[in-house]
Amino acid sequence: MISKKCEEILEYFNEILPNAKCELNYSKDYELVIAVMLSAQTTDKRVNEVDKELFSKYDSLEKLNSASEEDIEKIIRPVGLSKNKTRHVKGIVKSLIENFDSKVPEDKELLMSLPGVGNKTANVIRIELFKIPEIPVDTHIERISKRLGLALSTDSVLEVEKKLRKKFPESTYIKFHHQMIHFGRYKCKALHPECEGCKLIKYCKYYKKVS
Ligand code: SF4
Repeated sequence: MISKKCEEILEYFNEILPNAKCELNYSKDYELVIAVMLSAQTTDKRVNEVDKELFSKYDSLEKLNSASEEDIEKIIRPVGLSKNKTRHVKGIVKSLIENFDSKVPEDKELLMSLPGVGNKTANVIRIELFKIPEIPVDTHIERISKRLGLALSTDSVLEVEKKLRKKFPESTYIKFHHQMIHFGRYKCKALHPECEGCKLIKYCKYYKKVS
């Protein structure tokens, strides 16, 4: 059964973020995989900018497969870690063509066999492409969960994910995940969160500490 606190959190998010959704642009399944992988340690906005160029210049898996590493690296440089990420782009494309009939698999372990795709990235892909209820814990979700006492400050990302899965009904996972990310990006920011008017103040450990 869901606790009163979790119910209030969901109600508040539904009130302020009724339409939260993924902010990465993509039109093909593999484009999302590449976009999520590229989004590590950068913003979705920057990923969208480089993807626009990458996916219009190379508009199929085959074209990406024959693209040179140098050119891919040049295009994706603004997202950082471009050497590694270029290797992952090439690896993902090759593996999708050779092992998955050019289709992104739904199975989590198969997804995680793709270069640069870990637990969180696989969960995001499963949510976006297959509407499978998952809670990918990124830096925003980890921070907010700890501030609101949904997890301990010492919990690992996987422990946070486990706790959220237990506390919230599965039917809320997808929307809740998008709402938490938006809340973390635009209101409950890492530095200088906008606490004024936040209806979760009574549950917030961070607010208690700084006020
Ligand atoms: S009170 Fe501030 S820090 Fe706490 S959840 Fe609300 S916005 Fe985030």
